[in-house]
Amino acid sequence: MKAPLWAPWRMEYILGPKDKTRCVFCEAVAARGDDLRERRVLVVTDRCAILLNTYPFNSSHLLVVPHAHVSDLEEMSPEDHAAMWSLVRETAIRLRRAVGAQGINVGMNLGQVAGAGIADHAHVHLVPRWLGDTNFMPVLADVHVMPEYLDETWRKLHPYFADLPGRRAPLG
Ligand SMILES: [Zn+2]
Repeated sequence: MKAPLWAPWRMEYILGPKDKTRCVFCEAVAARGDDLRERRVLVVTDRCAILLNTYPFNSSHLLVVPHAHVSDLEEMSPEDHAAMWSLVRETAIRLRRAVGAQGINVGMNLGQVAGAGIADHAHVHLVPRWLGDTNFMPVLADVHVMPEYLDETWRKLHPYFADLPGRRAPLG
């Protein structure tokens, strides 16, 4: 990254208590109806899902998550692996269109020491970048990204992903 993004609201996640008995990604790929909107899932395809990161590094930070709860690439079936990277490409194309990103950081953090927040369920990050970006997300005083802002972003991105076959919440 040319300029590291400063995202203090992520401290809430980093320092917050973790419930090891639940996996938010498994819950997201299994979600139905309104729950998909509440979890800010754009689409659940046959093998993966695309959702907004609740603790974004930048506006419209998306995640591509396989259904399979596996921590590493080598544990993933060849079919899941191929489907995930194919969906990363489809996501990058739509993200550029939707938000006019000038660049996108695409990557995985495999393992806790590599910086993975949710190390047990592998996922790919897509962080759109603009020249001179940083700090244009509305943030609450106690450094949360405003939930209303994440909802608005979900609504803005939703139509751009409507052509991908899968399960989704209506725009409503
Ligand atoms: Zn999981």
